[in-house]
Amino acid sequence: MDAMKEKVLKGIEDSRDEAIELLADLVKAESVNPPGDTRKAVEVITRKAGTFTENVEVVSCDETIPNVFVTLNPGARPQLLYNGHLDTVPVGDEANWDVDPLGAVIKDNRMFGRGVADMKGGVAAMLMAAKVLAVENVPLKGSLVLSFVGDEETGAAKGAGYLMEKGHYSPDMVVVGEITNNSGIAIAEKGIIVYVLTTKGKTAHGSTPWVGVNAIDKMVKVLHRLQTTLVPALGRRDSGFLPPATMNIGTIKGGVSFNVVADTCEVVIDRRTLPGETIEGITQEIEDVIDQVKKEDPEVDASLVQLVAAPPFETSPDETICRLAQETMEELGRPADLLGYEQVCDGRFFSEKGIPTIIIGPGTAKKAHTPNENLELDQYLDAIKVYALLAMNAVGK
Ligand SMILES: [Zn+2]
Repeated sequence: MDAMKEKVLKGIEDSRDEAIELLADLVKAESVNPPGDTRKAVEVITRKAGTFTENVEVVSCDETIPNVFVTLNPGARPQLLYNGHLDTVPVGDEANWDVDPLGAVIKDNRMFGRGVADMKGGVAAMLMAAKVLAVENVPLKGSLVLSFVGDEETGAAKGAGYLMEKGHYSPDMVVVGEITNNSGIAIAEKGIIVYVLTTKGKTAHGSTPWVGVNAIDKMVKVLHRLQTTLVPALGRRDSGFLPPATMNIGTIKGGVSFNVVADTCEVVIDRRTLPGETIEGITQEIEDVIDQVKKEDPEVDASLVQLVAAPPFETSPDETICRLAQETMEELGRPADLLGYEQVCDGRFFSEKGIPTIIIGPGTAKKAHTPNENLELDQYLDAIKVYALLAMNAVGK
């Protein structure tokens, strides 16, 4: 490792207290979504960023959901973009927490709080990495752009999606700081499609069901066929770096009373998709199953409507950013395997535009979105090192 890198790593070790304070400030800056107000978090970011760069820009389409850019060496190429989200899922029932969910309490070398893992840890680590690079005067040939956004947990229309649509992004490579335990490099992510499946029947008195058509009975037929034919087929589908495709029936509702033949039944389906699967193909597969059931039972009146869709993505292991990330992890003695990311993040907005995108960040997925969410402080410090060295490898001189 060269002297400059040694100096940067030492700089990070020396800023441990400052880094922990920044993370605590971010956790205390409540940004639960809904409503997703990121103003307090952006205030923490701009205050800290202002201590080492003038290039801080707030961009928003909704004044309560600001997004913020922090840039080192603006305009230079290549441009490495670090993306993180500032909003968090709700606290949930506070009785299930052992500590104040917004208190940033430290116990056993871990910080506790809503969003500390998903993903204020990643955000703070990216910002601290940029700060150390700036303070240590690390020479850059390219630029490092930090993009901290809102609205990730509820679809990103006012966050990364908005910024992409309005032309605020033009990176050559992207790292999303979502939770990967700082281990390995996630280069693929599943997509999601949400469908509403409805069956219609004919209402009648519950004592004379033969007079009507029970929409719940018809729904059971369709769901049974989906579970016995399509679901097993999805489980066998080749999935590369990702677990197999899945289909989950998230909700079901139907009928008005026990003594009435139900004339309508509705389920919401969460279909997680793989790279290579298309929306049209996926919809057709479900339609085909419905058609089979209709053929066997002409009384089945079922329809499928797509609610939302986010595409999957996969970055080629041959991309420069994958190679550089692997080198960086090896330099730091960390696992450098290529992996799939099991949740859904903002990475798709970049990958969709053909920009090579990977995911590396501190925290474990198991602890995200749960009571007593926490982040190991050593892992947080390691993440700062990963981001600092990766930036040096990617856009340093
Ligand atoms: Zn997240």
